[in-house]
Amino acid sequence: MDRNDAPTVASDALGRNIHDLRISVTDRCNFRCVYCMPKEVFGRGYRFLQKKELLSFEEIERIVRVFARLGVRKIRLTGGEPLVRSELELLIEKIAAVDSIHDISLTTNAALLSPKRARSLRSAGLSRVNVSLDALDDETFKAVNDVGVSVQKVLDGISAAADAGFDSVKVNMVVKRGMNEHSIVPMARYFHGTGQILRFIEFMDVGNTNRWHNDAVITGAEIVDSISAELPLESIEPNYKGEVAQRWRYQDGGGEIGVISSVSQPFCGDCSRVRLSAVGKLYTCLFAANGFNLLEFIREGKSDAEIELKLRSLWSRRRDRYSETRTVESVLLPKVEMSHIGG
Ligand code: SF4
Repeated sequence: MDRNDAPTVASDALGRNIHDLRISVTDRCNFRCVYCMPKEVFGRGYRFLQKKELLSFEEIERIVRVFARLGVRKIRLTGGEPLVRSELELLIEKIAAVDSIHDISLTTNAALLSPKRARSLRSAGLSRVNVSLDALDDETFKAVNDVGVSVQKVLDGISAAADAGFDSVKVNMVVKRGMNEHSIVPMARYFHGTGQILRFIEFMDVGNTNRWHNDAVITGAEIVDSISAELPLESIEPNYKGEVAQRWRYQDGGGEIGVISSVSQPFCGDCSRVRLSAVGKLYTCLFAANGFNLLEFIREGKSDAEIELKLRSLWSRRRDRYSETRTVESVLLPKVEMSHIGG
């Protein structure tokens, strides 16, 4: 492989080309959402990663540069809560300088997203922001985040993002039966006509600490039906192959919503995503148990060419289709925690 040759796009064993790299920059979070980082596990005494255990910004930049040669074009920064990692703007500037990376996005709970911070992230090169918000009433939302943060705090973050001029500001709502299904229609009403796309996410069996059960899943179809009863929706075409969310448009012109139905309508067939944890482990599926220790590999003094070769061989052997093959047994298998690879 001559590195001066035009790099070929890496394709996995099921013919899926790599395109998206999701990078968790920290396992820490200022929330304790019950379906992701329940307090009884991630509470007092839980040992979070120390700074020296984390990938450095220089190492992340190098990994992004090599993945760009494999065909990665989109980077999503996640956590835990990425805004708790200090100087994140420096990392965004480094990634924005990598040729052929044309989209950098962030998933955040927006509690730390002040107008000043939103502007500095924007000018560092961040293109898009997805904000997690699971309810509009404080009673439900505080029960979900389990740290007493108000809805208004997150709505202020969404406004700050909207004012900072990002290409898009989307809102992610995880829906779980018995937790917040009563908030589906109020959320749809609130974001209807705002230009911000609200995306509903089916409750998933990510990791092993959120006590997932299929009975707690409100399916995408149920979500669409409940909204459509008041605000009629029509299905529209995806923006691109492999788009995670199904798109629905309000018939009255009030914009669109997204529905991510990983449980009821899995979408592994076009999955182009690879995930990097904050300690430099590479996961080829959100529901993987083990990841390749890329940090260790890099710190052995490997060259970029050797790293590229390794990543190509890892991806070319990829056969992941967890959501399409989910069984009662597979749900119980050990899996990496959401807060380690950020969804
Ligand atoms: S379950 Fe795994 S393979 Fe399927 S879409 Fe999710 S990350 Fe991709």
